[in-house]
Amino acid sequence: QAVSRRTERVASAVPIQMMMAFRMRSGYATRRLEPGVVDLTFGDPHELAPDAYVEALADALRPRDELWFAYMQSDEAAQAAAAASLERVVPLGWGPDDLRMTTGGFGAITVAFKVLADPGEEVVYNLPPWFLYEPLALEAGLVPVKVRARLPSFDLDLDAIAAALTERTRIVVVNTPNNPTGRIYPPETLEALAAILERASDRWGRRIWIVSDEPYNRIVFSGSTFHSPAQFYRHTLVCYSYGKTLLAPGQRLGYLAVPPTLPERAELLAAVDLMQIAAGWLFPNAVMQHAVPALERLAFDVPALEAKRDHVVSTLRAMGYELDVPQGTFYLWVRSPVADDEAFVGDLSGRGVLVMPGALFETPGWFRICLTATADSLEAAMPHLDAAIRAARV
Ligand code: PLP
Repeated sequence: QAVSRRTERVASAVPIQMMMAFRMRSGYATRRLEPGVVDLTFGDPHELAPDAYVEALADALRPRDELWFAYMQSDEAAQAAAAASLERVVPLGWGPDDLRMTTGGFGAITVAFKVLADPGEEVVYNLPPWFLYEPLALEAGLVPVKVRARLPSFDLDLDAIAAALTERTRIVVVNTPNNPTGRIYPPETLEALAAILERASDRWGRRIWIVSDEPYNRIVFSGSTFHSPAQFYRHTLVCYSYGKTLLAPGQRLGYLAVPPTLPERAELLAAVDLMQIAAGWLFPNAVMQHAVPALERLAFDVPALEAKRDHVVSTLRAMGYELDVPQGTFYLWVRSPVADDEAFVGDLSGRGVLVMPGALFETPGWFRICLTATADSLEAAMPHLDAAIRAARV
C-alpha cells in the first residue's frame, strides 16, 4: 500500500467521506460556476474583493527592507495589531506576545491539538460541528468524542459533555458563534462548562483544556453579545481566522492566542513556536503578516449581513421552512422538509441551488445555507427553494 495508516485513518473520517460524496455527486467544482446556478455552500466570496483589501495587500507587497520576504515566523507587528483587536472583543489584557500568527484557523487548531494532547487522548466536540474537526483530530492521533447539542436551542448540552469526559479527555472544542447553527453560547453556559472542566481536571489530576474556535467572533448580530470561553476558563487557547471577516479564506491568515492569565503561558508559547515549525511551517506568508495592521482596520459590514439574514429568514419562513434566526456567523441552519436531507439537497441541486446537507455535519434532517452570496443570487434562489418545499410536501 502506498499511503500510511494515518492517511487511511483520516480518510475514514465521516465528514471526509461525506464531503467526497457531496463533491462527486453534485460535481461541485464545475457546477458552482454554471450559469443560473446559485452556490450557497461554502463561506466563499461572490464578488471582487473591496479595493481597501487589495490595497492593503498591494502595500504589504512592497519591500521596506531586505528581510521583507525572508523566512518569517510569527511577526511581532502583526501580533501587536491582532492583540489590540482581540482585546476589544475578548478583554483579558492581551499583549503582542500572547499570540502567534498562523495559516488561518486551520493552522491554529492544528497546533493547539498537537501541543495540548498526545496520540490516543480524547477531544470532545459538539454536533453539528465544523466538519473538519474530525480529520484534524485524527491526523493528530486523537480520538474524537462527539456530543450532540441540546435541542431545540442547539446550545451546549452540559450534562452530555460532563458524561462524555474521561481520564483520557484532554481537549473540549467550543465553537461560538457556531458554524453551522449560528448559535452564540450564553455566559452562564460557558461559566457552567468551566466549572465542569475544573472539577473533572481535579478528579483525574490532568488538565482538560478548551480550544475555543472563534473565527466568527466579530460576526455578531444586534441583540446578541459574544463571550469567549477564555473569559471563564483560563486554560483556554483561542483560535481565530481572518478568512471570515475579510471574506478571503484563500489568503491564509489567523492566530492562536494563549491567555496572559495562564500560569503555564511561557511553556505553552514555546511549545506553539516549536510546533508551528515542526508541523510544517504553519506561519502565514510574509505579505499577509505585513498586511495585518492595515487589515485590522477594515470593518466587516455586520448591518448589511444582518439585513440579508432578516430578509432570507422571513422569506424562507413564509415558504414554510423551519429555522431559527442565527445570532452570529453567515450561515442559516434550516430543517429539511423531508427526513432525507441528502435527497432534498439533491433535489435543490437539480433546480440549480447548491446548499450543504446536514449529513455532512452528522446531523441528518437539516441543511445549511451560506449567506455570503450576493443579494441578487439569494433572490434568484428563492423561487427554487419555494418550488422544492412545495414538491417535498406533495
Ligand atoms: N473553524 C470554523 C468553525 C470554521 O467554520 C472554519 C471555516 O469554515 C474554520 C475553523 C477554518 O477557517 P480557515 O479556513 O479560515 O482557517
